[in-house]
Amino acid sequence: MDKIYNVGIIGAGVSGVVTALQLAKHGIDSVLFEQEKSVVSGPPFCHLHAGGNLYPDISESQCKLLMKQSIEMARLFPESIDERPTFISVPKTEKYEFNKLEERLDMLVQYYEDLIAEDPANKILGAPEHYYKIYTEAELNVLAKQPTIKHPKSPDQWMTNTIKLIDYKKLKMPVILVQEYGWNLFRLGAQAQLALDKTPFCDLKTNTSVTSIKDVRKQNLNYNWEITTKDEVYKVNYLVNSCGFKAGEFDESLHLNTERLIEFKAAYVSKWDPIPGLIPELIFHGERGTPRGMVQLTPYCDDYYQIHGMTNEITLFENGLVKSKNNVPQPEFEDGIKQKLTRGWDYKEVKSRTEKAIASVTKFVPSFKSASVGGPPLFGAQQIPGDDPSLRIGEVRFPCKTYARSEIVKASSALTVANQILNKIQEIGIMPSINDEGSQNSILESISKDDIDALAEALAEQRGYPKSLSRLVIEKK
Ligand SMILES: Cc1cc2nc3c(=O)[nH]c(=O)nc-3n(C[C@H](O)[C@H](O)[C@H](O)COP(=O)(O)OP(=O)(O)OC[C@H]3O[C@@H](n4cnc5c(N)ncnc54)[C@H](O)[C@@H]3O)c2cc1C
Repeated sequence: MDKIYNVGIIGAGVSGVVTALQLAKHGIDSVLFEQEKSVVSGPPFCHLHAGGNLYPDISESQCKLLMKQSIEMARLFPESIDERPTFISVPKTEKYEFNKLEERLDMLVQYYEDLIAEDPANKILGAPEHYYKIYTEAELNVLAKQPTIKHPKSPDQWMTNTIKLIDYKKLKMPVILVQEYGWNLFRLGAQAQLALDKTPFCDLKTNTSVTSIKDVRKQNLNYNWEITTKDEVYKVNYLVNSCGFKAGEFDESLHLNTERLIEFKAAYVSKWDPIPGLIPELIFHGERGTPRGMVQLTPYCDDYYQIHGMTNEITLFENGLVKSKNNVPQPEFEDGIKQKLTRGWDYKEVKSRTEKAIASVTKFVPSFKSASVGGPPLFGAQQIPGDDPSLRIGEVRFPCKTYARSEIVKASSALTVANQILNKIQEIGIMPSINDEGSQNSILESISKDDIDALAEALAEQRGYPKSLSRLVIEKK
């Protein structure tokens, strides 16, 4: 292939697609390789971590960055954001103290106000004074007697619907409702894929696995890297490795000695009986990795619910977290996990883990007992740069002048990484100076809701999930 691309991107997960779209926005051409049939088909995401409230142990600075990055991503992909709140509680068995959570929430309200002052379009989580609301036991007792609201609008209405279902005597008081929203991966994938198909600046190659890369910087050619696939060799000036948990494989071939953890996790799809009114996402905090690990129930349309349970029996796996060793940058999972990653789940395990997930919810929501398996698990492996498994913000590293490695831990960091890569490309002179045109992207904006609806549904079905998972619980106005 004679053409020389400015940028070659390996991996079309959320990081790769957002990088390609940001480059396209500034007229920089790229070739984007994805070994799967469609984009954003790696590890799942369902929660927009706009404040880090699912992680009682992370630092304030991580919480703030999660909020900022989440707002930026929600502005880029509004059709993927499900504007239902999150109910946060601490069971009586747990060590977390409510005072600490409240202090952190107040800090986040202030920070959210600052973000809105910087740019009013950042107000995507509603009014800052309504970012969270606290409920005492006495208030819950009153709300529990109110009628259920089919389509709740105010925090009290959401809480009314919730509290009728929950055994709140098991929870420390008070409890919280916070504006952390749902995040639909099928809809984000659909919008990104449609935009990439539309732009003349990105050559998207799905079903195309990169087999090797070659550093030709010292060969006095008019490009720096060769990217090899089964059928072709592509020439590029700048290389972006956004292979997710497989990023270490190419570091190995470049003899770069980097450290990373990779973690395999799964969430389960269940179907429940119809309930009379919508509920928020439900969080029951608990110590990760113990039998009381956090339980997360995420509502979807048509009575489908996704469940995470942070125990080894549900979301986490024995030997599911592995680290690079002996100077080999790519950690290796054991065979059982490798098999699951290539979609070789045994149905018996799907059933037993989903049933354990349902039982973990039933401890707090007794009527959830009647739920059953609703589809295959949503699963995948994510990378965590370095050796701290509690890190929630990873970004990008530049191991050499024309090579960027994306190292995001949460999907919300994708735009930050894309912009850092864009700045680097400008800094080293591959592109002339580019104006910062804000966080919007006109190619993405030009994609219609109807087209997103149709492709998101097709993607869910193609991957074996109920098509209801591709819709939002709260339809956009
Ligand atoms: C169970 C679970 C739940 C999660 N929930 C959330 C959540 O609620 N909110 C959140 O923000 N984050 C969540 N995450 C994290 C989130 O999924 C990841 O941060 C994000 O998907 C990583 O995106 P990425 O683009 O870096 O990597 P990936 O999505 O892994 O993309 C890498 C891509 O590279 C491709 N690839 C790899 N090697 C090659 C090759 N040689 N040739 C061609 N293509 C290649 C892969 O096929 C893949 O599509 C969750 C993760 C898990 C595991």
